[in-house]
Amino acid sequence: MPIRQLSETMINQIAAGEVIERPASVVKELVENALDAGASRVEIVTAGGGLNLIRVTDDGSGIPEQELALAIARHCTSKLSDSIHDIRSLGFRGEALPSIGSVARLSIRSRTAGGDSAAEIGIDGGRVSAVKPAAANRGTTVEVRDLFFATPARLKFMKGERAESSATSDVVKRIAIAFPAVRFTLAGADRSTLELPATSDTPEGRLARVAQVMGKDFPDNAIAIDAAREGVHLAGHVSIPSYTRANALQQYAYVNGRPVRDKLIAGAIRGAFADVLPRDRHAVTVLFLSLDPSTVDVNVHPAKADVRFRDPGLVRGLIVGAIREALAGAGIRAATTGAAGMMAAFRPGAAPHSHPGPANGHRSYEAAYRASGGFDPLRSAQRPLDMDEARTPRNGFAENEQAAFDTGPLASADVRAGMAEPTEALLGMVLGAARAQVHENYIVAQTRDSLVIVDQHAAHERLVYEALKNALHSRAVPSQMLLLPEIVDLPEEDAERLAMHSETLAKFGLGLERFGPGAVAVRETPSMLGETNVQQLVRDLADEIADNDTVETLKDRLDRIAATMACHGSVRSGRLLKAEEMNALLRQMEATPGSGTCNHGRPTYIELKLADIERLFGRR
Ligand code: ADP
Ligand code: MG
Repeated sequence: MPIRQLSETMINQIAAGEVIERPASVVKELVENALDAGASRVEIVTAGGGLNLIRVTDDGSGIPEQELALAIARHCTSKLSDSIHDIRSLGFRGEALPSIGSVARLSIRSRTAGGDSAAEIGIDGGRVSAVKPAAANRGTTVEVRDLFFATPARLKFMKGERAESSATSDVVKRIAIAFPAVRFTLAGADRSTLELPATSDTPEGRLARVAQVMGKDFPDNAIAIDAAREGVHLAGHVSIPSYTRANALQQYAYVNGRPVRDKLIAGAIRGAFADVLPRDRHAVTVLFLSLDPSTVDVNVHPAKADVRFRDPGLVRGLIVGAIREALAGAGIRAATTGAAGMMAAFRPGAAPHSHPGPANGHRSYEAAYRASGGFDPLRSAQRPLDMDEARTPRNGFAENEQAAFDTGPLASADVRAGMAEPTEALLGMVLGAARAQVHENYIVAQTRDSLVIVDQHAAHERLVYEALKNALHSRAVPSQMLLLPEIVDLPEEDAERLAMHSETLAKFGLGLERFGPGAVAVRETPSMLGETNVQQLVRDLADEIADNDTVETLKDRLDRIAATMACHGSVRSGRLLKAEEMNALLRQMEATPGSGTCNHGRPTYIELKLADIERLFGRR
């Protein structure tokens, strides 16, 4: 076949293959256009999951009659003035409308502020109709019918009305979080109506919009983030560690107001929470990055959800640092849903073990955790070979930390006799004054206005873990020589990167050096890792360094070893504690960042406000 130029419609259909994957992508493009036009109201209606109809109406600037034909022509945009390196609008490629018009029946009706009437144009599987007068208020209505009628192959990939409807809701919610001052409605016979009244573009307004989208639970269980470094600003909220999800879908990220799904950001969030969450749990986050548009490339993929940062290390460092600092600064806080669940269980008539519902973060986690058999250090891949020795203080890291709590068994009579009246100072502390130990594991404490119940085993485990980690990161980690150096073959760039970081790696107990082109020789490994898969470790490290320019993997692994050992070195439930010991534990928890959750992400304490308790008894 001779080479020939593709027809305009075929070119648009090819572009549509990339930009318009499903109804939700159409909604995304049309809503972005409305927002770029400065709309303060965006109304979306769908039918048949969006495959029959998508209609987006806005009150934005409108399109002048004489530009309607250009709006649906390929590579025509009003948004890119002179540089692709300085993009401040959501759109800029000028291909959404012609792409949609090539695979569906599209019509645009629009009226500008200055125009005395509206006009309309249509494009039907690539066939453009003439502009004609119409009646409409200021703004634009874009209607898309019979999506993919012109490309039946794509139609076959649709997942069904319900799935497409929910993908559309997700897209609208994601964008709406970034535009709190805009009112959004999403309606149709195929869905329940979503209404998001305008709030304001202030920190409070943004949080209010987040609450509209994600539910009030999240703000109640979130910590504010606000940090800047070298011209990059990060704001938003992250959940406290006891409020988590089973997947990362509830992690919203924005770069200069554009919703993105970015690997670097997702990785940074994972890194920041690595210490406080189990591997299979995910934080809930809403993060806004703002930076000079010329330092970020949004033109990576036609759908514009990917970005590239000029300085990825800076962005990653800012996110990890800001989240960790916020988590530390927030001190200890258990999820309110925990207390709420407890209250629900207490309520007269509540079924025993009733579950407070899907909104409850850690409860549902606990169920999953139990079902999975829980965390078993003896089965952990990273368990040290000398696990049994680690358990006895002789060789264990926990030795010193353990000693403080090792006061030998006590008679329960001592416990009761030892309880003095709490001092005002103690009552004023976050976790209050210890009043009793019940069921040999729960410390009951009292603050001025609440009752606190601490799981002593979980709490102590966390404290030991934090102490171990500090020890680990403040001095060199012991390593063991391999009998024969292990040679790892790698792509040359990876070998080079590892060699460049060899000094840092040595600090963690991993001794390696270049071994000719495309290989490294490993001579020493961290003793704590025991008999580890050196090849895998080195390759993971190379990937990690390439992705993030850090050595997070090894540190993570060591942290997990520390967690495993802490689990064995901590006060078992069943130990009776003296009043001073209990109070010492509470004070130590207050002073230790992250101690609000145990190493497995469960809360270490629950606080019940006196007011809530009184309500339970009908006193209020
Ligand atoms: P892009 O958004 O990348 O510019 P589109 O194909 O999505 O490309 O839109 C083409 C042009 O049509 C836009 O640049 C804009 O001028 C105009 N346009 C599209 N939708 C609207 C709208 N809702 N209100 C005002 N103008 C619009
Ligand atoms: Mg657009």
